[in-house]
Amino acid sequence: MNPASASAAEKIRVLVLSPEYADFLWYCGILGADQGMNVDATWCPDLVDCDDLLSNAHFDLLLWDCVFHGGSESDFLRYLAVSGRDCPVLAVSSEPADCRAPALMELGAADYLCKAQLDRWSLCRAVRCLWYRQQLGEVEQVHLRREVASGFINRDLFFDRLQQALLRAERGKHRLALLHVNLDDFRTINESVGYQKGDQLILKLAERLRERLRRVDSLMRIGGDEFAIIVEKVEDSLDVTQIIRKVVSALDEPVTVSGERVAISASVGVATYPEAGDTPENLLRRANRAMFEAKRDPGTSYRFYDQHLHISAGYQLRLEADLRNALRGQELELYYQPRIDLATGEVRGVECLIRWNHPERGLVNPDDFIPAAERSGLIVPIGYWVIEQACKRLQEAAELGYPGLVFAVNLSFRQFHDRKMTETIFRIIYNANVDTSLLELELTESAMMHDLNYARRCLRELNQLGVSFALDDFGTGFSSLSNLQNLPISLLKIDKSFVQELGESGDAEHIIRAIISLAHSLQISVVAEGVETEGQLEFLRQEHCDEIQGYYFARPMCWTDLLSFLENQSQAACLEQ
Ligand code: C2E
Ligand code: CA
Ligand code: CA
Repeated sequence: MNPASASAAEKIRVLVLSPEYADFLWYCGILGADQGMNVDATWCPDLVDCDDLLSNAHFDLLLWDCVFHGGSESDFLRYLAVSGRDCPVLAVSSEPADCRAPALMELGAADYLCKAQLDRWSLCRAVRCLWYRQQLGEVEQVHLRREVASGFINRDLFFDRLQQALLRAERGKHRLALLHVNLDDFRTINESVGYQKGDQLILKLAERLRERLRRVDSLMRIGGDEFAIIVEKVEDSLDVTQIIRKVVSALDEPVTVSGERVAISASVGVATYPEAGDTPENLLRRANRAMFEAKRDPGTSYRFYDQHLHISAGYQLRLEADLRNALRGQELELYYQPRIDLATGEVRGVECLIRWNHPERGLVNPDDFIPAAERSGLIVPIGYWVIEQACKRLQEAAELGYPGLVFAVNLSFRQFHDRKMTETIFRIIYNANVDTSLLELELTESAMMHDLNYARRCLRELNQLGVSFALDDFGTGFSSLSNLQNLPISLLKIDKSFVQELGESGDAEHIIRAIISLAHSLQISVVAEGVETEGQLEFLRQEHCDEIQGYYFARPMCWTDLLSFLENQSQAACLEQ
């Protein structure tokens, strides 16, 4: 399409962001009167509509009355840039252009008009110019895509793209990563399969890479066997890792050309803005250097120019791979920490706490791998494994003569929001054939507050099966028990940070006292976590805390140690009688 000849019949979709309907009608009147344009305007009076419209409809231009914004103008422009997918923004405000235009355009507005000087000619000209510019940009994109598919892209164009991406990163305060991909030993491949097939292989690979990248990422072929990938809007090394993981897996699978499977491998160099530089030249040079470093490793591999990022991203990838093996290879184990009833001194139940018997690192605590499991989604299968294991032990405990022991299991945010959670837990309980009233799930407030209706539905469904719920780490989150009043929560666990401040700050005493009396008034029992000293224990006893858990009585222990512990407890109880 030749943009300059875009016909008058072509519709220009304009979203008018203005709180006033009268203003919207006024803009419509002006734009509608221009014979040379066919404007289809939509009115957006508030932020809720704005979000909805931007995500569900396509617009060519956003006409923004600057009185309309959620917080600050700069935040709103940034929001429009992301949600509007770089749709140009024409800003309109009552102040003269020389006062406002430079700042707003710096922040990302494509053009500015002063309301006082706004007439038919200036508004129509601005709309038409921005529309043409947008069309030109799209044509260039199509060209680019075609060039990538068919061969090389012009080096100037590539630098230009990188330059623009850098400007966007700077403006939006984002990170950016440049990946330089070089196929290993491509000459040998070419010689063995022939140049034509070699070329087909590159095209197929480009297609495969593109499928795995996000929309905001751009892929370009910059040499016979080389690609550059610009990864925009990355927050941290984990984001980059996710993309690298996809790229590496795409480069590791054989490619089939004309029925022949060709094994390939590639070396990837990564340079990030701002760490590795802020100009296209620097980034490319450094990504290139990192790529040569990666060449030293056999098979498909990658290297970061920035050592720190390399370490954290590499560590994350390795941890995830190891964790996946751990789940398969039975390296995970549950430890059990007793919970003591303060009125009777008996063990009421145990909290199941996961441990990882790492072949090289030894026993790894959950704080060192749960966050990685959460990010990668592995927490979901791990979490179900924990429930399964807890049910098995629950059954075993009953058979060994400890029938009323409660087994508490932690549920993380992502597990709780797994769509199949209630169904899967139901299946596990059903298969294990256990007394469900002895299974307790521990959740934090933040996991529930995220979507109270969802939480209410899930908790009720599981509660109907007999499962009970405890509110974990209470006091550290929102602490708005009133919001949670309608949920079937029978236990509240005071976070160990308060318990450990007892004796050191008067505040901790007040807070604990208030939590206990509030919980009791709602018929909810209270467990204090992290009890390590006699003094803490005495205070909690005086305040009628129901149960305690902590090193003072017992540390988390493996199953056989727990059985000995229970045995000793019951012998001690017999002697007392
Ligand atoms: P949490 O649920 O708050 O678990 C209590 C943590 O406090 C445990 O750490 C326990 O060992 C520790 N603790 C118990 N008594 C004391 C004490 O007297 N003093 C001190 N300083 N610490 C004490 P752990 O086992 O390292 O677990 C850490 C966190 O990992 C847990 O915090 C929980 O959020 C998470 N977690 C553990 N197992 C699982 C699991 O199976 N699934 C999920 N989703 N999360 C788990
Ligand atoms: Ca817990
Ligand atoms: Ca806790």
